[in-house]
Amino acid sequence: MQNEEIDYLLLSDDGPGFHTIEGEGEWIGYPSVFMRLFGCNLSCRGWATADSPYGCDSYVSWTKKNKHSFEDIFNFYEQNDLISKLKRGDLWKITGGEPMLRQKPLISFVKNFIKKYEFTPRIDFETNGTIMPEPDWDEFKVTYTVSPKLSSNGDSERQTYKPAVLDYHVKKGSCFKFVVKSENDLKEIYRKYIDFPLIQMPKNRVWIMVCAGSRKEHIDTAESVAEICKKEGFKMSPRLHLMIWDKALKV
Ligand code: SF4
Repeated sequence: MQNEEIDYLLLSDDGPGFHTIEGEGEWIGYPSVFMRLFGCNLSCRGWATADSPYGCDSYVSWTKKNKHSFEDIFNFYEQNDLISKLKRGDLWKITGGEPMLRQKPLISFVKNFIKKYEFTPRIDFETNGTIMPEPDWDEFKVTYTVSPKLSSNGDSERQTYKPAVLDYHVKKGSCFKFVVKSENDLKEIYRKYIDFPLIQMPKNRVWIMVCAGSRKEHIDTAESVAEICKKEGFKMSPRLHLMIWDKALKV
């Protein structure tokens, strides 16, 4: 097949973008434009709770596939005043699903954006850390919020655990965000990520996030996460959008 130039992105049911406050990890509190890509290589069904029945907290990323041309996305961003937000320095959070699944069209999209609007937006990828980023991203100085999945997420270790990709992110200084529900989760973080010689994730780059799908669940579980972080020396990440809006998506 010829090298075909792709001029569209497959996005989730969230639409091409929305303006919000980043609610998790290192960039928490930043005004942000979220763009959610379609599809993921994991399922995270093991996290299902009464308040989060799919397990995956971003299930809209795989329920409906929406094809948007670059031009459509640019028009949407202009009409919704999102270009000016990115220009003043708001974070462009590119998430999913797993955005690293579709890097070629994304790289082309970002190059087109920079050419058209003549500035380089501040991009942070939300990724599950299983797919190696393309070297092209270095040109745009993107950052990564990496959320590796432990065995409690329900997917196999063969799918979730990619030491070479994690080592790449350690060297990049990426933010690592884990969901911890039990003592076993904590042991797994030490065994596979912090004490494992091929990765050696620095503890000062690790955030432990509250596992919750509603404001109530967040209130009920946050204290135990705070205690883990105090004891182990990790940073704590709440899920700010649950505390503010009592919703995990589209806010
Ligand atoms: S990695 Fe993220 S988007 Fe993918 S299934 Fe798990 S929670 Fe959902």
